[in-house]
Amino acid sequence: VVSKLPQTGTNIFTTMSALAAELGAINLSQGFPDYPCSPKLIELVNNAMKNGHNQYAPMAGIMPLREQIAIKTEKLYGTIYNPETEITITAGATQAIFTAITAVIHPNDEVIIFEPAYDCYAPAIRLMGGVVKSLELEAPDYRIEWDMVKRLINNKTKMIILNSPHNPTATILHQEDIDELSSLVKQQDILILSDEVYEHLIYDGETHHSMARYPELQQRSFIVASFGKTFHNTGWKIGYCMAPAYLMQEFRKIHQFLVFCVNAPMQYAIAEYLKDENNYLSLSGFFEEKRDDFRAGIEQTRFKLLPCSGSYFQSVTYDDISQETDSEFAIRLTKEAGVASIPLSSFYSKGTDKHVLRFCFAKKQETLDRAVDKLIKV
Ligand code: PMP
Ligand code: GLN
Repeated sequence: VVSKLPQTGTNIFTTMSALAAELGAINLSQGFPDYPCSPKLIELVNNAMKNGHNQYAPMAGIMPLREQIAIKTEKLYGTIYNPETEITITAGATQAIFTAITAVIHPNDEVIIFEPAYDCYAPAIRLMGGVVKSLELEAPDYRIEWDMVKRLINNKTKMIILNSPHNPTATILHQEDIDELSSLVKQQDILILSDEVYEHLIYDGETHHSMARYPELQQRSFIVASFGKTFHNTGWKIGYCMAPAYLMQEFRKIHQFLVFCVNAPMQYAIAEYLKDENNYLSLSGFFEEKRDDFRAGIEQTRFKLLPCSGSYFQSVTYDDISQETDSEFAIRLTKEAGVASIPLSSFYSKGTDKHVLRFCFAKKQETLDRAVDKLIKV
């Protein structure tokens, strides 16, 4: 066969988690919690199954869940989405992202992404015959240089993909970014795909600048979220997409043939669980404590901390320890120190190596303490 994605191999999360498992290393690579999700939520799933919710859900998701998402969005960001026509439940954010991209990208359309970038954007664009226009951001604050973005825009530019809080750099968008973005997209009809899976993981009292807050941005945006991140159950693979009806209509044309619908009992459980806002509003405090403890631990090592304003990732540089490439060093660290991480070069289409590793701190205190003990010896 002629490969449709010649530049794509097995992704880094698969590779590093497998290596960690094989070597019995502490896995701070792939982003997932190592502690259980709420027993209440599990009980709600059991109840939904016992109550007979074991057949296909409606194509766009069960209405009670779509309604709870609409309520949450209005409460937090002030915008009313119509659950009937503007919200769809997906198999995780990954499926929502793939569906949004395939719904609107035609051959030769250009899509701007900011690198380092989460790894599922570029392959979906390329699969559609679209062209990835990537702009590299610079450590330590990885701010978007909007003048550079302006220079990339031409009449083929179809979409800009944003991700705040950002994986892997843990940076967030600020009001200035929103102002720049607004003036840019207004000049030309550019769509936005806003990956907001870490919307509730934001620290130091900062605000999450959801596209849903800004009418002129909201009207051109697919907003993607993930319950796996919010409710500590990445294995459930449930997320959603919100978009104005004219975009959602195209989204659902793909969604219905990609998965048709997402598993029903968990949707009922999450719909119920969302009614208590504390279940998601408590997340920032929970993870901020982990972030602070982990950063204090890393300060005792020879790794150097990069900033962390959101998400559950902490990136570090290691120039005082090694001059190896980040991939070589991440593998050696897993083998010799027993701690697995993600090399940031895997988030760049050119494989740019700035000697940065990403650790996930969505782990039990005991796991983080053991990891720090090992990293101190490096
Ligand atoms: N976007 C970002 C930025 C992510 O970090 C992740 C995964 N962790 C996803 C999308 C995919 O989320 P899901 O597991 O719900 O498919
Ligand atoms: N989003 C997770 C991370 O960044 C990984 C999800 C996946 O394995 N595809 O680590």
